[in-house]
Amino acid sequence: MKLLVVGSVAFDAIETPFGKTDKILGGAATYIGITSSILGVKSGIVSVVGGDFPQEHLDMFTKRDINIEGLEIVKEGKTFFWSGKYHNDLNTRDTLATEVNVLENFDPKIPASMQDSEILLLGNLHPGVQLSVLEKMNQRPKLVILDTMNFWMDSALDILMEMIAKTDVITINDEEARQLSGEYSLVKAAKKIHTMGPKYVIIKKGEHGALLFHEGKVFAIPALPLEDVFDPTGAGDTFAGGFAAYLAKKGKIDFETMKSALIVGSAMASFTVEKFGTERIEEVTEADMFSRLRQFKELTTFDVELQ
Ligand code: AMP
Repeated sequence: MKLLVVGSVAFDAIETPFGKTDKILGGAATYIGITSSILGVKSGIVSVVGGDFPQEHLDMFTKRDINIEGLEIVKEGKTFFWSGKYHNDLNTRDTLATEVNVLENFDPKIPASMQDSEILLLGNLHPGVQLSVLEKMNQRPKLVILDTMNFWMDSALDILMEMIAKTDVITINDEEARQLSGEYSLVKAAKKIHTMGPKYVIIKKGEHGALLFHEGKVFAIPALPLEDVFDPTGAGDTFAGGFAAYLAKKGKIDFETMKSALIVGSAMASFTVEKFGTERIEEVTEADMFSRLRQFKELTTFDVELQ
């Protein structure tokens, strides 16, 4: 199946307790595209960058067989810039700067070559932009996956609800699920979110893994316990990318396949956090991925004898 990705392609400046970076490559669509390519899945990115975006990054996408016909370059504009500083626990961060730049007037264009994409992954962006992408598809993709965040719940709730109503799979973190539903229990929160539209609800719990809810069933996975987390930026996007790319690769959309997809997402995210920005995920080979998936299997497989 073909995977269409809409999301930011950005410059990030990141500060963690272990160091800081100047402007480096970032953005949700960047992490998702790179992750898909490791799984050998063809993806296309719909996004926008400015004239300041280096050719070497565009070449990196192309080398990975990522279709960038839908990546608009506004020559006289500047690329979206985000800067954040993580606290010592690495679970929380402050946004230091968000310069929307060319994303401000972003009018997504779906290239003809990607119109037949079966899976659409809408990365974290203004819900109005996400909605417009869906409207611009000649036919509705088989699966619409939505990533969003509390910022849009605070600033654009009505249009976000409209987007959520048209979504098959939503991925949000635990705090956002609580905010969206008004329920503290994540089980109750997922039930409420189902009534808003999505048949599948994924709740991410950072270093504690993720939950998948569907038709009264629930599946839980851990995050890989890592000795050192260096920079969590992009972990959520990498997770979503691994999840969507696995479904695309298998060509199947059901609860059982999604269970495995969740593991793949979590395994891929465990790479991203090991170095700054995209540095680590860009090094990962297919063999690295398999080895980490084996680690996951060991972590989660057990027998129980009751007598
Ligand atoms: P995550 O750590 O999964 O939340 O994703 C981090 C990525 O999201 C960074 O590479 C940023 O460039 C990008 N990002 C941060 N804020 C926004 C925003 N308001 N809109 C789009 N992308 C954003």
